[in-house]
Amino acid sequence: MKCSKCNKRAIIEIRYAGKALCEEHFKRYFENRFRKNIHGKFDHNEMIGVAISGGKDSLTTLYLIKKFVKRADVVAILIDEGLKGYRDALIEDAKTLCSRLDVPLYIFRFKEEYGITIDEIAKKRRRRGICSYCGVLRRNLLNKKARELGCKKLVMGHNLDDEAQVALMNFIRGEYWRMVRMGEEQGLIEHEKFIPRVKPLRTIPEREVVVYAMLRGIKSNFVECRYVHEAYRAEIRDMLNELEAKFPGTKHSILRSNDRLVEILKETFVVEEMPNTCKVCGEPCAGEICKACEMVEEIKHLK
Ligand SMILES: [Zn+2]
Ligand SMILES: [Zn+2]
Repeated sequence: MKCSKCNKRAIIEIRYAGKALCEEHFKRYFENRFRKNIHGKFDHNEMIGVAISGGKDSLTTLYLIKKFVKRADVVAILIDEGLKGYRDALIEDAKTLCSRLDVPLYIFRFKEEYGITIDEIAKKRRRRGICSYCGVLRRNLLNKKARELGCKKLVMGHNLDDEAQVALMNFIRGEYWRMVRMGEEQGLIEHEKFIPRVKPLRTIPEREVVVYAMLRGIKSNFVECRYVHEAYRAEIRDMLNELEAKFPGTKHSILRSNDRLVEILKETFVVEEMPNTCKVCGEPCAGEICKACEMVEEIKHLK
């Protein structure tokens, strides 16, 4: 198979775009989309926080932010939820890349911040899926720490697969309001304490991130989270991959539908206000106490 742009051997076929690309043209194609997705998103000299997990998506994001955003201070923020045998290897990968790129790495731990690890929460007789605790506590901590570090934007490594999965899950569960409230990149949270998110990989499929990371020597010992079997999300992921294989472009069109819906919801919805700050932790919230603090309280009473 030959590259659609030149005569070299293609290393990847990109079916939804109807092309095959050689190494050089693939890198360019990948980086062009990244640059387009960050265009106009940062002000000069502002501090940018990149949320990293140690996985290939976030490390690739960090690598490209350093490559393309010159006039900014960049810091990496990693949340360690205390998943034994999982997070440690990823932290090593994160450290390796951060020192290669000369980016300061800040690590914050559930154990120190909330007094409990995700493994300890998992053992309790809890009401919710483990991923809900992890997600809520992680988001709370990320926003808080990014703000305390002085970050004006928080860059996330979510790829197209992540975004399409969440969009579809919200739709299937009838939780369309989540699109509006989640306040991720195109969402509607406006609060002086909420750090706006930027997701430069959101239009790029996971498979391409894997290839790009490999070509750039970005190493990640990623293994699947051991709690993933609990998640409804794994089902959605498999289903989406099947659909994409049969109908290339499905993930992109789901994302487009989602983004268009959010635009419409923005016009008709009264902005879901987060008028308050949590009485316990000071983070933005709708009521008196934020979801994270509510959970921490709940966990204390679990057996
Ligand atoms: Zn080429
Ligand atoms: Zn709180």
